[in-house]
Amino acid sequence: DEVTTRTGGAFSVFTPFWRAARPLISDPGRIEPPARLPAPDAWPVSEALDSWGLHPVSPDWSAGFADWTPGEAGARERLGRFLARGLAGYGRARDFPAEPGVSRLSAHLHFGEISPFALWRGALNAVERGAAPETDAEKFLAELGWREFNAAISGRGRDLALTSFDSRFEAVAWRKSPRDLAAWRRGRTGYPIVDAGMRELWTTGWMHNRVRMICASFLAKHLLLDWREGESWFWDTLVDADHASNAGNWQWVAGSGADAAPYFRIFSPMAQGAKFDPDGRYVRKWVPEVARLPDRWLHAPWTAPPLVLDAAGVRLGETYPAPVVDHDFARARALEAYAVVKGR
Ligand SMILES: Cc1cc2nc3c(=O)[nH]c(=O)nc-3n(C[C@H](O)[C@H](O)[C@H](O)COP(=O)(O)OP(=O)(O)OC[C@H]3O[C@@H](n4cnc5c(N)ncnc54)[C@H](O)[C@@H]3O)c2cc1C
Repeated sequence: DEVTTRTGGAFSVFTPFWRAARPLISDPGRIEPPARLPAPDAWPVSEALDSWGLHPVSPDWSAGFADWTPGEAGARERLGRFLARGLAGYGRARDFPAEPGVSRLSAHLHFGEISPFALWRGALNAVERGAAPETDAEKFLAELGWREFNAAISGRGRDLALTSFDSRFEAVAWRKSPRDLAAWRRGRTGYPIVDAGMRELWTTGWMHNRVRMICASFLAKHLLLDWREGESWFWDTLVDADHASNAGNWQWVAGSGADAAPYFRIFSPMAQGAKFDPDGRYVRKWVPEVARLPDRWLHAPWTAPPLVLDAAGVRLGETYPAPVVDHDFARARALEAYAVVKGR
């Protein structure tokens, strides 16, 4: 609320918001935990936490969350690792899902297990020590800025998980297709980069930011399904699910958000895959059915000659789905459906 325009209004565009917010941020320094907390003389009768059976057992769907140590110690450890090995080069590496280029601190931040100031301080100290270039650190701090921006936008009254920030987008006629929605949720769209992301999410509770954008765009534009369907699936499956960041980013992708991507910009999953997973390491990890395809066809298996598919053991529609929708057709359909916002 302290970050306002000159006339006292709220920002709706990130860059001026961040320009105004950045100088207002002052690090209070590390606050040590109290040495001891006074305990009550008598504890009320309580239940044993284990008796709540919170840990899933049959099946244990949390098995894939193993790379994850909830709590402050786990958060500090992860921050230390990122500052030592990830911050230098962050500006470039953060877009490549197969590289260890991001901090993976989102859930720790969401649950308050670490303060954003700890990240702030760590990044600026790394620059001072000469351990990371300033440009990389500033990029990282700006991502924390996006977290603040989303929180600021979502604090204005309307529930942005339910309503478009830009109300013109309420006129888009979304399709209803339980079949397409299920294919997207389960990572069976036939577009390997989308399927890889959706499977990473289902298995680990986390998905790389670049791939979140590709998968979200695929739902809202290629499948023309209401972005709220995607938001609610992410809400159910992300370990870092955060009301403001999830809704804000979904609306950013769908075009209806504050400072959103223009609605007519439609990601090509093939081009995104080739650019950000050029050697296919990410796709091969999560979509083993196509792993033996050469790089050239990995992101668009349906374009591979029959002999190449044969040699890689891929039978479209059998071992791996044929595309759930044709790219050019989907693009044209989305542009037409989204055109209703123009006249409003
Ligand atoms: C469709 C979609 C849904 C998303 N849903 C969520 C969500 O529910 N919860 C969530 O925390 N992030 C969400 N994000 C933002 C982003 O993808 C994650 O914060 C990021 O991938 C977390 O990984 P990291 O900690 O390694 O990020 P890093 O790159 O290391 O960034 C550091 C921190 O900055 C913040 N941050 C980075 N990017 C963004 C962003 N675009 N918006 C807001 N904060 C950001 C996060 O707190 C993150 O932990 C979503 C993005 C998209 C495109």
